[in-house]
Parts: sequence; C-alpha cells; structure tokens
Amino acid sequence: MAKYRIAVIPGDGIGKEVMDEGIRVLEVAGARYGIEFQWDHFDWSCELYKQTGRMMPEDGLDQIADHDAIFLGAVGFPGVPDHVSLWGLLIPIRRHFRQYINLRPVRLLHGVFSPLANRSPGEIDFYIVRENNEGEYSEIGGRLYAGTDEEVAVQESIFTRKGVDRALKYAFELAQQRHRKHVTSATKSNGIIHTMPYWDERFEEMAKAYPDVTTDKFHIDILTAHFVRNPDWFDVVVGSNLFGDILSDLGPAATGTIGIAPSANLNPEKEYPSMFEPVHGSAPDIAGKGIANPIGQIWSGAMMLDHLGETDAARLVERAFETVLAESEVRTPDMGGNATTQEFGYAIAESAARMS
Ligand code: ATP
Ligand code: MG
Repeated sequence: MAKYRIAVIPGDGIGKEVMDEGIRVLEVAGARYGIEFQWDHFDWSCELYKQTGRMMPEDGLDQIADHDAIFLGAVGFPGVPDHVSLWGLLIPIRRHFRQYINLRPVRLLHGVFSPLANRSPGEIDFYIVRENNEGEYSEIGGRLYAGTDEEVAVQESIFTRKGVDRALKYAFELAQQRHRKHVTSATKSNGIIHTMPYWDERFEEMAKAYPDVTTDKFHIDILTAHFVRNPDWFDVVVGSNLFGDILSDLGPAATGTIGIAPSANLNPEKEYPSMFEPVHGSAPDIAGKGIANPIGQIWSGAMMLDHLGETDAARLVERAFETVLAESEVRTPDMGGNATTQEFGYAIAESAARMS
C-alpha cells in the first residue's frame, strides 16, 4: 500500500473551508486505489501572523521539507498586506523547494457556463506553464531620492539561462505528451528589450530539440486578446513569472468561475516537495458563509495525485467532479446553484465512491 505524508496548510478564509472537501474526496480516491494519506496540519496563516508576526515559524520550511507534497488552501486576510502572505509564505515555499514551474490547466467542463460566447467543452483545453522562481518577481531594486520630487523606483528582472531553459523544457515535454503537441510562447520583445529577446532566443533554441512539437509566439498584449477570442488555438502556453501570472488568471476566467481553477507549484525532479493550491484567494467577502466552491481545491488534489504518480486516482477525482457538474444540479452559488461547500464536496465524494 502506497503511503504519502502530506503537509496540509489550510490558511485563511475559504482556504479552511475548501480544504476539508479536498481531503474528503482524496480519501475516497485513495481508498479505491490502496493509497494511504497522512495529513499533517499546519496552521500557517495571516491569523498566525497577527499573533506572532510571522506567517510560519522560523523553521517552517524544515518542518515540511520531508513531506511528499504540500496541500495549500489560500492565504490572505483584510488588514494584512498581500505582500506579507506572499513573501512570508508562498514565495519562500516556492523558491526554497525549487518549485520552478507553476502549472495550471484551463479546461472548459460540461455543465459549466463560459463567459465566452459559443464555446463548448473540448474547445478550451490547454495548460499554462509559468516560470515560478525568477523573472520579474525579484527582490532586486529599491528607491532613490525617496520622498523627494526626484523619487525613483527601480525593479530589476532576472532571467537566467538555467531558469528560462528549465521552464521551457517542461513546457515542451508536456506538449510532447499531448495530442496537439503545440507550444505557444508569451513574449514582449518589442517593449522589453533585454530579457524578452533572451527569452525568445532560448525558446527558439529549445524548440530545436523537439522537432515533433509545433510552436508560435505572441506578444503578451495580443495574446490576452487571443485567449478571449481564440482559446481553441492553445495547447501549452509558456510564459515568464509575470506574464504567466496574468495569463493564469485570465485562462480560468474563460472557463467559468475562479472557484474551480487548480494549480500546481512543481519541482519536477521531485528533489523537494511540490505544492498544490487552488487559484483563488481567501475570498474574505464570502468566508465563513460555507458557500465557497471546493472544486479548485479538489482538482488541485488531483494534480497532486498525478505528481505522486497516482494517475488512476487522479483521473477518478477528475471524473467525479466532472460527473457531478454534467449530470446534476448540485453547485455552489458562484456556479448558479444553492449548495453549500460541504454539500458540493459530499456530492463529489459520493460520485467518486460510485465510479466504476
Ligand atoms: P488573493 O489576493 O488572495 O488572490 P483576491 O481578492 O485576488 O485574493 P479571491 O480571494 O480569489 O481574490 O476572490 C476573488 C473573487 O472571487 C471574490 O469575489 C470571491 O468571493 C470569489 N471567489 C474566489 N474563490 C471562490 C470560490 N472558491 N468559490 C466562490 N467564489 C470564489
Ligand atoms: Mg488575486
């Protein structure tokens, strides 16, 4: 029997509510395929920050370094600045554990309304591969002449050959496993004249090693327009940290509610634990009401199973929520229903239990 130790960080707001449903559904899939989970809970959150001044204990990273994966809900709380939860928890985990790929599937499911007119399931089915460790999100920079009329803010971007190549390589290898075998690169080499031409150069170089994969590239501005107008063009889209971030909010918006979108922060070599979390935040506006959509968390759990090599269990979880959406009216309010988080989670868990 396979056994996995999972570090569970429910976080804040609806993170704590959807986590229960994620675990519930994974337990069902695990039981089916002889997988045992050990769920170790960590209360790292903005709540902890307010009590202790830290999002996680000083030796936090050591505490979870030996786990097989990290399952995260969402962090963030009104009154605690966003950069505290980001730089106090998410970014240290992503960087320390070399989770240099942020992977997000964008897939229109049956029974889900897309804000894009005339789009049906099957037409929108692609992955966004975001470089997750460097690029535009760097700590290098600062202020000159602070507080004066001459004040200047400087922010440096860092694109290393190693960092760019490994993100591109991941994208090409993912495309190779897919039916369409196509990679689209997000760039902006007309405006950003040092780092983006470098990105393009490395992309062209990498493409040579994958002759069976077709490619194209777009400037980020027109690419966002194509996401809306021609989402069927895409198979695997790769972008830098900033461009990937923007695209990976836009993609899920095209496939219905942000409440269903999953993501994986991957260390593909499995030298360190990878982290799986829904795309949405802690949603303070609906926190505590028990109406958050748990699918983003549950689908992230499926991505975690995939990463652990438990692909049958991963497919079972995906089929379970796809079936509930396609064949029943059970939905949370963000999808036009009136089910609670728990009712939706139970329905998906039951669907998983019934699945042949
Ligand atoms: P963060 O900065 O942490 O990303 P945010 O304020 O940008 O947070 P979210 O917390 O994701 O964004 O919330 C954006 C909107 O989407 C809110 O109105 C929220 O209620 C809604 N929302 C987010 N997640 C869900 C969910 N799982 N179910 C239903 N609605 C959700
Ligand atoms: Mg946000």
